[in-house]
Amino acid sequence: MKCSRIAIIGAGSVGATTAYAILLKNIAAEIMLIDLDETRCKGEVFDLEDAVPFYRSSRIVQGTLAQASSADIIVITAGSRQKPGQSRAELVQTNYKVVTAIAQGLKPINQQAIVIVVTNPVDVLTQCIQELIDVPRNQIIGSGTLLDTQRLRTIIKRNVGVAEQSIHVSILGEHGDSQFAAWSCAHIAGVPILDFSGLSQSTLDEYAQQAKQKAYDIIAFKQATYFGVAACVASMCEAILFDQKRVVPLSTYVPEYNVCLSVPVVLGALGVERVIAYSLSQREQGQLEASVQAIKNTRNMCN
Ligand code: NAD
Repeated sequence: MKCSRIAIIGAGSVGATTAYAILLKNIAAEIMLIDLDETRCKGEVFDLEDAVPFYRSSRIVQGTLAQASSADIIVITAGSRQKPGQSRAELVQTNYKVVTAIAQGLKPINQQAIVIVVTNPVDVLTQCIQELIDVPRNQIIGSGTLLDTQRLRTIIKRNVGVAEQSIHVSILGEHGDSQFAAWSCAHIAGVPILDFSGLSQSTLDEYAQQAKQKAYDIIAFKQATYFGVAACVASMCEAILFDQKRVVPLSTYVPEYNVCLSVPVVLGALGVERVIAYSLSQREQGQLEASVQAIKNTRNMCN
């Protein structure tokens, strides 16, 4: 039987925490870490290796981009992170150079590999990597608004006292300041969310604003966010390796708008297998178009 291999490029806070989240999920035989800073990477590998005997993975190793290129899943977390008050879009010039160098180093790539992009601004960089790496676009996926969506579900849970699993809502669009919640399609245990006792449009908009603000708050408090995104990436890897066909909002190429942005997709062994057609309200359609424009504006700052 073939053993699953996951390579993580960037062994900083997000990369190392993602490795640990994948280890806890018992989904990969081998986890490989790669970083320009080889000493830091070695330290993370040595430290993580001490946890391996408690889980089912066989090994955590340090590798090169050439070795990563043959993995089943390649996660890209390398690059600069936001400073307090800085937007994700402001990272574009620096991180475009980082992902360009990584894409070159991954050639030739395993044609079946699924690439998960985490580095910000994730929508723009997902599209850049799709243009730089020679595998079908649906195999290159941005973590997108999965994290924002989980944040929103947690806020709603806290306020209505219903578990996240019964709260069906997605934040769509940019993983950034123009993201929006698709309330018209949201429900709690089958009850349209706007009809749910105690929830009004203005309350829900306030919750979406809190979800959007949360990354800025965490960065102001502790300089970086990594536990939540690591759990998101580990759950994406699980859905891919077990061909779960889970429906989650992720950043994928949408031909109609010629950008990558988050829409609800079916995630399985082939990557993004399908986009679920949502009918948005007029207000949400306007928000989606504003998000497309914001992503295009950031993309124009790339070169
Ligand atoms: P970090 O500074 O802790 O780590 C970044 C690592 O990337 C460093 O170890 C650095 O040496 C490495 N690196 C830089 N260029 C490289 C290259 N060419 N090849 C290999 N390694 C390279 O930063 P972090 O907190 O881990 O954040 C990483 C990225 O993840 C940032 O862009 C951040 O904004 C993003 N992020 C995304 C989400 C999301 O939801 N998409 C959430 C949190 C953070």
